[in-house]
Amino acid sequence: MATLEIHDLHVTVEADNATKEILKGVDLTVKQGETHAIMGPNGSGKSTLAYSLAGHPKYTITGGTVTLDGEDVLEMSVDERARAGLFLAMQYPVEVPGVSVSNFLRTSATAIRGEAPKLRTWVKEVKETMERLQIDPSFAERNVNEGFSGGEKKRHEILQLELLKPKIAILDETDSGLDVDALRIVSEGVNRVRETGEVGTMLITHYTRILRYIKPDFVHVFSAGRIVESGGAELADKLENEGYEAYTKGGVSA
Ligand code: ADP
Ligand code: MG
Ligand code: MG
Repeated sequence: MATLEIHDLHVTVEADNATKEILKGVDLTVKQGETHAIMGPNGSGKSTLAYSLAGHPKYTITGGTVTLDGEDVLEMSVDERARAGLFLAMQYPVEVPGVSVSNFLRTSATAIRGEAPKLRTWVKEVKETMERLQIDPSFAERNVNEGFSGGEKKRHEILQLELLKPKIAILDETDSGLDVDALRIVSEGVNRVRETGEVGTMLITHYTRILRYIKPDFVHVFSAGRIVESGGAELADKLENEGYEAYTKGGVSA
């Protein structure tokens, strides 16, 4: 079973000619098959954690370690991270002009698996997965994220998740901006992946809403750049009732 281990992670970002520490000692272990909800107020550093794990150049790691099955993730290039089995669905997915969804998916799958998927089974798999996510077939020929609605972007991320079968998936605010129907469809996709038992999921979210559809094994409260409390699904109920105020008192929030 693959294990992602984050230990005492510190990350800075350059903003307005100053270096600002955003992550202040994050500790988290995610195993294949587990679902972890990372919940916290806006600006607490959740996306910074996601980008840092993905290897975004804007974020400087100043301390701590990240390993996947003992391998140093921080030493890996972005491509190597994907091949090692890390997957990131971004809060704000980027457009890839000139690259169609179907090309993008096949190229990604080829890069990650080390060989091109067999065309016949692949085409069938893509078609079936798109149907389950209620994505129109014409979508395959559109350029990645170009002119996609918020809901289409999120479904496209789940399409990638289902087809690329990572070991560890980081889903940053996959629930934001979705109406109830889209939220259900996206959640069902995440649950299908989860039921394989082969993906460990970090579900980053501000709202407890998505947790009505996806029941986390663990809930972590993120505040001012670190995890300040961890518990089971019941912790999400507490957050739903009480909000984050108890964790941000004293002006420690970023
Ligand atoms: P969250 O996802 O929890 O809302 P973020 O990680 O997006 O939090 O942001 C945490 C803090 O780091 C904020 O104060 C934000 O302004 C700052 N920050 C994050 N990324 C950047 C960046 N690329 N440049 C400048 N500041 C950033
Ligand atoms: Mg964010
Ligand atoms: Mg912070």
